[in-house]
Amino acid sequence: MVYTANENRYGAMNYRRCGKSGLKLPEISLGLWHNFGGVDRYETGRETVLAAFDAGVTHFDLANNYGPPPGSAEIAFGRILKDGLGAYRDEITVSTKAGYGMWPGPYGDLGSRKYLTASLDASLKRMGLDYVDVFYHHRPDPDTPLEETMTALADIVRRGKALYVGVSNYDPEQTARAVSVLRSLGVPCLIHQASYSMLNRRIEDGLLDVLGKEGVGCICFSPLAQGLLTDRYLSGSIPEGSRASRGEFLKPDSITPELLAKLRALNDIAKAGGRTLAALAIWWILRDSRITSVLVGASSSAQLRENLAALSRPALSNEELERIEEILRR
Ligand code: NDP
Repeated sequence: MVYTANENRYGAMNYRRCGKSGLKLPEISLGLWHNFGGVDRYETGRETVLAAFDAGVTHFDLANNYGPPPGSAEIAFGRILKDGLGAYRDEITVSTKAGYGMWPGPYGDLGSRKYLTASLDASLKRMGLDYVDVFYHHRPDPDTPLEETMTALADIVRRGKALYVGVSNYDPEQTARAVSVLRSLGVPCLIHQASYSMLNRRIEDGLLDVLGKEGVGCICFSPLAQGLLTDRYLSGSIPEGSRASRGEFLKPDSITPELLAKLRALNDIAKAGGRTLAALAIWWILRDSRITSVLVGASSSAQLRENLAALSRPALSNEELERIEEILRR
């Protein structure tokens, strides 16, 4: 399939330096956790990825287990690369991860050198790549010595299979230790991938301070709270095909009347500023200069375009931020 990227792709996107590294990431990145699996329509996923790249989104986030079935999002992404995007390999940043259960037995989960090394090799094969740009340890392993996990990451960089490494879902103390071990091995920790949105502010309790102090970037996943911070559920009903309708990761009973009242109040602020609720949610995250990128998901290119349109409006004013704060406190 022939694909020629939009000539003006770098016109509308800003790029933020990732911590103190040389790597810049787009303010909005695209994640392939949902909607790109073997059960999903390939053409829709390809359209979404290409719409992203055409709008200056240079960063695509995967993991070994994304699908379903696990591994199939990497296979689909490999196909998208083969179907045209691969011609732009030097213009894109590809991330993948290992840390959750991937294959049976003692070597297919958590944080051993054995698991991380084998998993990245399998990811590269699925995507048809020689290297990824960023390889993450996906979650802390309570039993493997951190030194072993970090040495495995550093060796992966030395072997040229990843250009940078990062961690995900580590708490502030685990992060500080990981950063320090990696530094002692001569391989800096590039980035932390953490959940952050108006509905989940845990990283404000210490993690952002650690990242700021250590010069590590921060990319925020589930910035739209899996769709809650969009117009998807504002009417009070659960649209067919939506993530909540599938019920596995976003539970319909989490959409309580109290939550809906909060979302509608936030939506009023968005509307008054000429934005969508998704745009408000994205700019709210980007208000902090320690954040490198907002990592959105999308089940169609239309959703993605709507989210990217956030960037065509100005940042939130202090007054808007104060009104949001007041609503979030309720
Ligand atoms: P979001 O909070 O952005 O949720 C994305 C979902 O919200 C979409 O799939 C869609 O769901 C809905 N949505 C998005 N935009 C719109 C819109 N404009 N209008 C209406 N609905 C919309 O992020 P995700 O939870 O998908 O996470 C993003 C990425 O973060 C993942 O792909 C992955 O790369 C990463 N991640 C990392 C984790 C980690 O442990 N490191 C954990 C989780 C995610 P639908 O249409 O299906 O209802």
